[in-house]
Amino acid sequence: MGVSEFELIDHCFRRAGRRDDVALGIGDDAAVLAVPAGRRLVVALDTLNEGVHFLPGTAPADLGWKALAVNLSDLAAMGAEPAWLTLSLSLPRADESWACAFADGLFALADRHGMALVGGDTTRGPLSVGVQAIGLVEPGRELRRSGARPGDSVLVSGTLGDAAAALGQLKATGKADPALRARLDRPEPRLALGRRLAGLASACIDVSDGLLADLGHLLDASGCGARIELARLPRADAMRVDSEAELWDLQLAGGDDYELCFTVGAARLAEAEGLAAELGVRVSRIGTVEAQPGIRCLRPDGGLHQPPAAGWDHFV
Ligand code: ADP
Ligand code: MG
Repeated sequence: MGVSEFELIDHCFRRAGRRDDVALGIGDDAAVLAVPAGRRLVVALDTLNEGVHFLPGTAPADLGWKALAVNLSDLAAMGAEPAWLTLSLSLPRADESWACAFADGLFALADRHGMALVGGDTTRGPLSVGVQAIGLVEPGRELRRSGARPGDSVLVSGTLGDAAAALGQLKATGKADPALRARLDRPEPRLALGRRLAGLASACIDVSDGLLADLGHLLDASGCGARIELARLPRADAMRVDSEAELWDLQLAGGDDYELCFTVGAARLAEAEGLAAELGVRVSRIGTVEAQPGIRCLRPDGGLHQPPAAGWDHFV
């Protein structure tokens, strides 16, 4: 408490750089980075605001992890290899123990992926965290949203709806199942999978606002539609629901999954499904791309399910 902005940066965020491509890191007016020859930069920025993106009182280490994880999920969806990050932090007060715990969570994930924090901005204001993640990709190998074609299979990593289920439990009772809670607080961005999908998947997006919303963006960008089989949607063992409809709502429209949804042509499908065993990540084939726009959700009895209202929009 009572430390200056510069002490906060020094004590919590200036940690020995482990990348030799950081020519100049924290401490000058801007960072200088050595971009490897023959690679392109991939840049993503997402902000988390207290009360909008996370519950007030969220543990600082969890927030630090998640602020980076949501951005790494975007790099994963592009098929990029993460390299550097910058951090914009707005804090109500200069609380060093809070900031260092936040940094511990952030660096735990950054270290795991060999990333260096190279700069940022620290200001006073309502609690808000913006992370910019910068990655690298070989020219033309980035995974876009726009390459899906009718007949491609639709696949998704991991399980769906877990974080939304945990948030529902927390809001209702103040407690949540630990396995679901971990999915809300410490999402694991699917970077290894994204890297392997580059050059293999026809299109890819990360699921952050619910499957229907995000798959919808991919299909819009590709000028197609899809049919999804509800019985194939991956479900966590810890998921407890009262009805199929409740489960489908969570899987189709719950936010904060940070899984990859991608499409693969028939010739590469076995290869894509084989990545699951190789990488230890669940990969489920959930449907098929069709020419007709829109997403049709098939129930196990063959009927069409009327899905809940589509994903999250801040201004609606
Ligand atoms: P300036 O006023 O020139 O923008 P600042 O005082 O904002 O410089 O920042 C000083 C240095 O500290 C810069 O290198 C900046 O990138 C870094 N920095 C500031 N806040 C953070 C932060 N939260 N995390 C990492 N680096 C930071
Ligand atoms: Mg500044």
